Amino acid sequence: MQMTRETIPMRVTASGAQQSIHVFRFTGEPGKNVYIQANIHGPEIAGIGAAHDLIRILRQQKTIHGSITVIPSVNPVGLDTKFGTYQVGYADPNETVVGNFNRIYQLLVSDKAAGEKVGLEDFVASHLDSDLETITRDFKAALRQAVIAFQQSREKYGLRHGVKLACTIQEMAIEADCLIDLHTASVAQYHHFTFKECLAAARYFGIRHIVQLDETFSGVLDEAFLQPWLRLQQTYAKAGREIDFTDFDKEAFTLEFGDADSINRSDMQTDAERIVNYLRAKGVLEGEATDPEGAFYVCHTDDYKRYYAPTGGLILWNKQVGEEVQAGEVIAAILQAYQETEVPVVAVESGVINNISKSQVVHEGMTLCSVLTNIQKLG
Ligand SMILES: [Zn+2]
Repeated sequence: MQMTRETIPMRVTASGAQQSIHVFRFTGEPGKNVYIQANIHGPEIAGIGAAHDLIRILRQQKTIHGSITVIPSVNPVGLDTKFGTYQVGYADPNETVVGNFNRIYQLLVSDKAAGEKVGLEDFVASHLDSDLETITRDFKAALRQAVIAFQQSREKYGLRHGVKLACTIQEMAIEADCLIDLHTASVAQYHHFTFKECLAAARYFGIRHIVQLDETFSGVLDEAFLQPWLRLQQTYAKAGREIDFTDFDKEAFTLEFGDADSINRSDMQTDAERIVNYLRAKGVLEGEATDPEGAFYVCHTDDYKRYYAPTGGLILWNKQVGEEVQAGEVIAAILQAYQETEVPVVAVESGVINNISKSQVVHEGMTLCSVLTNIQKLG
């Protein structure tokens, strides 16, 4: 097993400081290619701790079957963005077009060839009878070419930081068979996002609540990584060739390790072990994976309900993270002391409180909480 380190320069600041990404790569015998990153959102530091412990564990492995890329902090700009003592780097405050750092990615395919995108219909027509190895190799190469062309077409005018960051990440992740993006969510219970096609493997992370993503593209990394392959499978089906998605051997997970701006030694270790268990289940690491006992719960993305503040004020929570709520119950009240009033926020559907705002000060329209509804037991 070999380990290499690479430093990728990302941004030079006005004062001349260089912000960089540090990439750890572990390579062993032939096998799956795994890409793991953390901290695309600056305040989400639990994944840095998990990645740090994972690197320590991987260094001790004699044999790895495949290759593993680990990036503890993929977004130095996000991590370094503070306001007073608060971590605020969910978006780049230096951008004129301010956007969430996990909505910056490109969908590199379209049905018909357009611009730099890979035209799925043309690709399938030219590979209709090809074997899977050829399809996978050539499709990855086409995606790589697309992201490079996208970047080159824009960089002659100078790249917005978000575009540079997205292209850098997508190019690194294209070779992967498994993608794991580590996040947290304000004040939250452990949960994760994945696709129907990845549910069988999802349990090995031992995280009980799963939000199942649909085919909508909103610029999130897991979508940008997996959707080209899902759409390729659909285009093959339209052309009369059925390919079992598992034959592409692609999986993507966005793991949400609890609260933002929070890290501790015991969770770092437990979270690293979740990833190790998955890597064992995939045969990348040696040793028996543990199949976690007990139930898992899936909520479709349409049933993942986000509540926004109906007015400004201070949030008084009636419900806490992980608690059940019934339709019609008051989740929270918005206190407006100057009006001598409280405005209730009532649950529209029954469900489980998944995450709540860390700050209890809100303006109208700001995120309050998310509720998992219509939860199905996975079995
Ligand atoms: Zn996040």
